[in-house]
Amino acid sequence: MRTYLTTIGLEVHVQLKTASKMFCTNSAEYFGAQPNSHVCPVCLGLPGALPVANEKAIESVTRFALALNCRINKQSKFDRKNYFYPDLPKGYQISQFDLPIGEQGWLELDGKKIGITRVHLEEDTGKLIHANVNGEKVSLIDFNRSGVPLMEIVTEPDIESPEEARSFSKLIHQIARYLEVSNADMEKAGMRFDANVSIRPRGATKLGNKVEIKNINSFRFLEKALAYEIGRQVEILESGGKIIQETRGWVESKNVTVSQRTKETSPDYRYFPEPDLPPLVFEQAQIEALKNSLPELPAEKSKRFEEEYSLDKKYVRILTEDSNVAQWYEKALSLYSKEKSKILANWVVEELLRIIHDKNLIINGVPIEPAGLIELLTILDKGEINQTTARRVLVRMFETGNLPSRIVNEENLAQLSKSEDLESVVEEIIRENQKAVKDFKNGKEASIGFLVGQIMSKTKGQANPKTAETLVRKKIYGNQSGS
Ligand code: ADP
Ligand code: MG
Repeated sequence: MRTYLTTIGLEVHVQLKTASKMFCTNSAEYFGAQPNSHVCPVCLGLPGALPVANEKAIESVTRFALALNCRINKQSKFDRKNYFYPDLPKGYQISQFDLPIGEQGWLELDGKKIGITRVHLEEDTGKLIHANVNGEKVSLIDFNRSGVPLMEIVTEPDIESPEEARSFSKLIHQIARYLEVSNADMEKAGMRFDANVSIRPRGATKLGNKVEIKNINSFRFLEKALAYEIGRQVEILESGGKIIQETRGWVESKNVTVSQRTKETSPDYRYFPEPDLPPLVFEQAQIEALKNSLPELPAEKSKRFEEEYSLDKKYVRILTEDSNVAQWYEKALSLYSKEKSKILANWVVEELLRIIHDKNLIINGVPIEPAGLIELLTILDKGEINQTTARRVLVRMFETGNLPSRIVNEENLAQLSKSEDLESVVEEIIRENQKAVKDFKNGKEASIGFLVGQIMSKTKGQANPKTAETLVRKKIYGNQSGS
């Protein structure tokens, strides 16, 4: 078999987070609402209704394009993309054709630049629901999503594997959330992909015919669909066939892509400038101001976390995945001490985020403030509680919303460091483990560890292991000298 090179270009759709829709005043927060409750003459495309562009959406796309190192077109405009489909009542979608808001950008992914062809703004369509009503198959239309602002990002054919496509789309998702232009909520189809893919024999300079896989709504499906499609194309070429340029769909239940339409019948959208909306004009000063307002982006933040806090790549990746987590960590660190950046990272990643993940929460929805965790770590540092107890206290902080000092007091969790506190437990353990005591007396040093372990477990981890060990030795030697 020959070896083949893979070429992928992505078209990513991201729903913008705006209060109202793109061209009317209906709320864009339609998810889960009663069907057709968020509609008006504008988004229903009734005759004579006039669109008014949403300024926030334009600003969001401009900021996003700037974050992707695009050139912003000083003159931009909206265009009509004409086609018929039941979820598009106007008979055209307002989009952008030859003058998108942003062009010619790039994004670095694991040290490699992926070219960004364009970033433009358009409106979403309604949604068809195929249902069974009284035993009859019907198609229903919900127009709540009609006219919700949608940003489209098109990449150059620079992506070389399904894994890279997945990482790239995750980066887009991350940036959309960093910039707060979108929740990019995958469960609510807030982000969708069309993936274009072709293969060519190694050594060939001309790209192969591409196949477009439409409407993929998860990172995992994107990777799976592309891997399947590449396999399918290799098989065709290997058996002497030709790849026809076509649009295919990913059928998750069967794990295959299926043909939807071929190039011969591909639609001619007859784009023309939207006559009901004025062109968009940007001043250089406006562009500069938006550029300066961009927050620190994932790449810069990771680099800074690595350098400033000397953290491992793995921890940096987890802490900077969500800018709210990064912010939480930095707030906590500012209340603690920079020298303890690693200890804190460990607590946030291994304990806090694990609980958040298990409980299906988000960082901004937890009952624990950075100051609460730092109070806990300070009590731990002072030796008032030990590691095991500290972990338990953290769980109780989640459950009660109380501060750690209060939990330690009310639940009697302070470390048992004084001999008096441990005397009776130690005696009990010695009584119950005569064999280990004998082994120890006979020189088996490891038995002391076993005995201390028993004490720890009996005290649910509250015993100070050092005090416990000293006490065990004292008791055993005491007995010995007494015998
Ligand atoms: P079309 O005119 O069919 O929409 P475009 O040139 O606009 O095609 O490209 C659409 C997407 O397909 C872009 O993301 C682009 O990078 C990608 N693309 C273009 N040619 C190829 C190819 N031969 N193989 C893989 N992807 C491609
Ligand atoms: Mg195109």
